[in-house]
Amino acid sequence: MARVLLRLLAGLVLVIVVLLAVLLFNTLRYTPEAPVASGEIYDLGADIEQATKDLSDAVTFRTDSTDLKHPDFAAFLTFIETRYPLVHSTMSREVLARKTPLYMWQGSDPNLSPILLAGHYNDVVPIAPGSHDLWEHEPYSGVIDDEFVWGRGTLDDKGAVIAMLTAAEKMIKDGFTPKRTVYFSFGGDEEVGGLGAMAVAVHLNQLGIELDWMLDEGSFVLDKVIPGLDQPVASINLSEKGYVTLELVAKSAGGHSSMPPRVTAVGRIAKAGGRLQDTPVPGGLSGLSEEFFDTLGRHFSFEQRVVFANRWLFRPLLENILSGSPTTDAMLRSTTAPTMLTGSSNDNVLAAEASAKINFRIHPRDTVADIVAHVRRTIDDAEIEIRYDESLANPASPVSSSDATGYSDIKSSILDARAPGHGARADHRRHRCTALRQGRQKRLPHQSVQNRRLGSGAVPQHQ
Ligand SMILES: [Zn+2]
Repeated sequence: MARVLLRLLAGLVLVIVVLLAVLLFNTLRYTPEAPVASGEIYDLGADIEQATKDLSDAVTFRTDSTDLKHPDFAAFLTFIETRYPLVHSTMSREVLARKTPLYMWQGSDPNLSPILLAGHYNDVVPIAPGSHDLWEHEPYSGVIDDEFVWGRGTLDDKGAVIAMLTAAEKMIKDGFTPKRTVYFSFGGDEEVGGLGAMAVAVHLNQLGIELDWMLDEGSFVLDKVIPGLDQPVASINLSEKGYVTLELVAKSAGGHSSMPPRVTAVGRIAKAGGRLQDTPVPGGLSGLSEEFFDTLGRHFSFEQRVVFANRWLFRPLLENILSGSPTTDAMLRSTTAPTMLTGSSNDNVLAAEASAKINFRIHPRDTVADIVAHVRRTIDDAEIEIRYDESLANPASPVSSSDATGYSDIKSSILDARAPGHGARADHRRHRCTALRQGRQKRLPHQSVQNRRLGSGAVPQHQ
């Protein structure tokens, strides 16, 4: 008997030793991929102080989405015309619908299909009524302090527009001509429908132009945002989450609150909301989010790398950890956010109708119908009606390929700018890093509209 036990014990020890060896082997091999060799590196060396001033000035134009007739829209286009004279004398420009300029920088090789770099200069929404006192600096002041440029639109998205114009102006000044034709479009209504962007698409289509790839606004360089990582992370967004708001409606006879039925309309809705909150839409680490964490995981400490490198064993643990933070949880699944409730207007009157609005950001693996089915199944209450406005419901965008040339071009240019020993001169690298930190908006609760694009949906799109 003792001998059998001993053998079992020896067997167990052997299994553990082999397991540890496999874990160790995988972890030691799990290192950052070598930087991708890029083509010719263009050492920009732009005047960052001037660019900072340009951004500060750009912020002072009230290009607020709610009023496209505001004279500041036309004034902003004139401002960039005078501030970037070489861009305007070298490129052709057409102003399309919704005050959206489309620039064309003619390439030298007509055999290469063009690319499009897009941004927008209109701002999200006016500042929320009553929130003015919460601003440390005036929303349209463009104040430059030691660290940041302050104001509406610095991050979303005048910063990108100014960066593109600064780069192009400098490159033209240095005598550079791109091989591939480059288009730039700066939307005037991106936050309120994006008809300007549609006009660009229609226009290019009418000209028979097929783009090789395009890059629009998306995520940021996340500096000290990912716990456990000290170096900045540039996320290249390949998809955008979808969007649907479901309204749950329960009805009852109403009446006085002194003799309520056992289940009221408000109780029904509260229970349904609670169930939805307790039952996240099924998800997990797969597709783009797995690719994202596989890249990031290689930069973590040894102990953390053990987990990332051995997902075959630790996947449930890893998913559990990632689900614990709203930011990373949003990358694993479609998110559920109860946002609005209605009931009776009096504390002693039973509601004849109660409702809740639940907002979902849809992961590329789910459809709008999947979300409705999940809600129907989870609330398990046939008396509750589920409504939604189909015109406002969108599935996630198609997922762009990370194998495409555009992706590797963008990736290598980020590495050129940020990775030590990867091309650009060190002093310029440092300047560029600073430049990337210039944009800064004070975040306020009412900026939730913007979050649709920049919040959970934007997190490494890697969704
Ligand atoms: Zn934006």
